[in-house]
This record gives sequence, C-alpha cells and structure tokens, in this order.
Amino acid sequence: MIGCSCSVCTSHDPKDKRLRSSVLIESLSTTIVIDTTPDFRYQMLRIHNNRLDAVLFTHPHKDHIAGLDDVRAYNFFQRKPMDVYANALTAEALKREFAYVFADKKYPGIPDIELHTIDETAFTIGDIPVQPFTVWHHKMPVFGYRVGKFTYITDANRIDDHVKEKITGSDVIVLNALRKEQHISHFTLGEAIALVQELKIPTAYFTHISHQLGKHAEVEKQLPPGIHLGYDGLQLLI
Ligand SMILES: [Zn+2]
Ligand SMILES: [Zn+2]
Repeated sequence: MIGCSCSVCTSHDPKDKRLRSSVLIESLSTTIVIDTTPDFRYQMLRIHNNRLDAVLFTHPHKDHIAGLDDVRAYNFFQRKPMDVYANALTAEALKREFAYVFADKKYPGIPDIELHTIDETAFTIGDIPVQPFTVWHHKMPVFGYRVGKFTYITDANRIDDHVKEKITGSDVIVLNALRKEQHISHFTLGEAIALVQELKIPTAYFTHISHQLGKHAEVEKQLPPGIHLGYDGLQLLI
C-alpha cells in the first residue's frame, strides 16, 4: 500500500509484493484475461504476454477495470478489435469511464473494443468454455467465472446456494480473502476457508489479499491442507 511501512509493505519476500488481482487463462490456442487492473500493462510486460484474445470483467470497481486502455497494444499487433465481455452493470460503467473509446468521433490510437454484454449463459472464447455466475460484493452483483474444472471468484462476500451448485465439482478455485478482520464486501480468511471446505474443492488459492492479512510465509503455514495463498506470478496447470 502506498505510504505504508508495515512488515508486509517493507518485506523483501517477492510473495509479499502484490499487484492488483487478475488472472490469465491460456489454452493451446486461446488466451484470455479476467479483469484489467491498474497494473495490467506491467503485468502483461512482466510475463512477456504477446497474445490476448479476450478480456472478461468481474465488476466495475476501478481496481478491476482501470487498465483497459492498454489493450490497444494488442489491437496494434493483432490488427483487430479486442473482445470484451462484461455483465450489464460493468458494460455501462465501461462506457462511462472510457467514454472516449465508445465515442462516435474517435481520435487515433485509442483502444478498439468489441463490447459483449453477457448474462449467466455459458459461452466459448476460442476453445475455452466460460460459465459466468453471479456472486455478491456487499450489494453489488459480481461475475465469477468457471472454466472447466477451474473457478475464479474475486470481490465477493456472499454466494447464493444455487450458485454454489455451479461451482461444486471444480478441482481448483481462486477465491478472494482480504484479511482476518470482518469487511463489508470481502470474504475474510476464515470465511474463505469455510467456503472452500463447504464446497469440498480440493485445491484453493486465495487472492485480493490486503497487506493487513500478514506476511505470505507466516499466513501460509496456518492454512489447512490444499488451501494456499496465491501470489504474483503463480502458474497452475489444469
Ligand atoms: Zn470490488
Ligand atoms: Zn477489488
């Protein structure tokens, strides 16, 4: 956190150096990203990612959308618009927050975006099957995504029972766990652990972690088997 000198913010462990939450999903032929954070440009540069077929959004909070402008690099190299998928609430916010992208008269060099407003109907991007579902971020509906045996949920603190059924059977879940203390719109560490155990998902990685949770190495030791803290650069083969 900017300006903070706590033990996490001053840690030399690379796993305590957390950029904003996002995930890149890659099949043999298709690459997608969930959310374009304010760190999106650096995240893509850092892994030398030279291909992107689509962006999926979870919700319109700035820490999940602010990096969208930088998809223009992919427009330039791939010579086509970027397919962007979002629920109605997020699509509206994108049009507002990136008004210049959706304007009738566009100035040169801006991102070229093909915006798809989606509901909870399953769809595919290339050979990647995507099942969106709604979870709750206090009162805001947020899209989680299931891709085969992998489920990604960020910025939630409540999940309806019928949605839990859609997630059940996943092999791996990435789930938000902010800190140990209660928060109005994010699962705590304890709530996230309880949810993973309730859903009986064998492997879980927690994301959207606050510096208030503590150091990676210390918290990791306290977690039940199969449950881990995520970290920047973590790769999973599913
Ligand atoms: Zn949020
Ligand atoms: Zn967030």
